[in-house]
Amino acid sequence: VTSQAGVVLEKLDNFVGQFGYAVPLDLGAKGSCQIGGNLATHAGGSRFVRYGPLRHAVVGIQAVLGDGTIVDSLNSVRRNNTGYDFSSLLVGSEGTLAVITAASLACVQRPIAVQAAMLLCSSFDDVKKVLLLARERLGENISALEMMDGAAVQLALSSLSHIRDPCPEVRSNFYVLAEAAGANTKLVNEAMDSFVESVLAAGVAENGVVSQDDSQCRDLWLSRESLLDAAMVASSAVFMYDVSLPLQ
Ligand SMILES: Cc1cc2nc3c(=O)[nH]c(=O)nc-3n(C[C@H](O)[C@H](O)[C@H](O)COP(=O)(O)OP(=O)(O)OC[C@H]3O[C@@H](n4cnc5c(N)ncnc54)[C@H](O)[C@@H]3O)c2cc1C
Repeated sequence: VTSQAGVVLEKLDNFVGQFGYAVPLDLGAKGSCQIGGNLATHAGGSRFVRYGPLRHAVVGIQAVLGDGTIVDSLNSVRRNNTGYDFSSLLVGSEGTLAVITAASLACVQRPIAVQAAMLLCSSFDDVKKVLLLARERLGENISALEMMDGAAVQLALSSLSHIRDPCPEVRSNFYVLAEAAGANTKLVNEAMDSFVESVLAAGVAENGVVSQDDSQCRDLWLSRESLLDAAMVASSAVFMYDVSLPLQ
């Protein structure tokens, strides 16, 4: 799809959704962030684990340089080996090289079946083992894997009345939200069952819940996507960092 830079991510995703496609980027700010901002920050988002970096989805870009020159490589052809790759240069440039005005993005098939699970782990080592088991058991169905620490979850529960505790009877040091998605409900559910069983059997999660319908799936995501709102309710000054660490 070719989109102007000022289009809000969620609106673009809803638009392509009518045709059975999805934008391969999803993040908590989807209702307000714009495609130009997503590209300028090279946002990762929760679909990174499935679709990889946003840069790989950019088929073409249009931008205006500081001297007014318009760079235009808008394109609907995925395989384009002509000329310089301006898209890769501008994605992640945070407005330092040009103002991005439009982009062509390769969309993905919109999954029909989606299931989420919240797993409670006592240590970060266990969280890393959950990640490995998710890759092994969910395979190509893996669509998100997000970790929240216990303090952040408790902050969301105490600051925001619409957040439901995924496991009210227990508290944990780490909460891992795993999502599987695909074209076949039976296969997605089987993969999720196999993953959750393996995690519990290996003793790397002490408790967990699996969504039984779309509404429960949304509730689990709400606890993840509301963390920033919770921090802003609790404190007037919130500093945000984007940090990547090796898994070792
Ligand atoms: C470096 C960085 C990495 C981030 N990574 C993630 C992430 O992985 N996952 C996640 O959930 N959130 C991430 N965020 C938070 C943020 O969400 C991204 O917020 C979102 O993609 C920004 O969109 P926005 O429309 O709100 O942009 P803004 O907040 O309005 O702008 C963000 C930056 O992009 C520049 N910019 C905006 N539009 C254009 C344009 N059209 N042309 C050129 N430059 C432009 C701005 O000058 C600014 O530097 C990141 C933020 C930053 C700064």
